[in-house]
Amino acid sequence: MKRNYHCPKCYGLLNPNVRIILKAECRGRAALVLFSPQPGNYNAIVPESLGLKRHDEVKFTCPLCSRDLTSRRNKAMAEVAFSTPGGDSGRVVFSRTYGHHETYFVTKEEVRSYGRHADRDGVSFWGEGPTG
Ligand SMILES: [Zn+2]
Repeated sequence: MKRNYHCPKCYGLLNPNVRIILKAECRGRAALVLFSPQPGNYNAIVPESLGLKRHDEVKFTCPLCSRDLTSRRNKAMAEVAFSTPGGDSGRVVFSRTYGHHETYFVTKEEVRSYGRHADRDGVSFWGEGPTG
């Protein structure tokens, strides 16, 4: 089932085709970065011109409205919204640190974590632990 990813500010569609497009900024350089829509797949397409090195902190902004996607709950993370044709919706929260593989899919019902750096216990840090 295809998930649609949206900017949480302007609700613009971030994956018009397959990959999720975000603007990335680091050390005064900016580029568009393409992410896989598949949870746990970290084969992002990052232009070499961005000059990212492991552990760099990247600022992600919406390519449509240019607003900052840094999570208000945790500044080390960025987040976008998602919805499915089946009516599921929620947020995808991911690490802003290059090379740090940590992603959470948060819905009202549950939190799913992906990536080798993800720590399920750490999720409660932003008060969004699984319920029920
Ligand atoms: Zn936007």
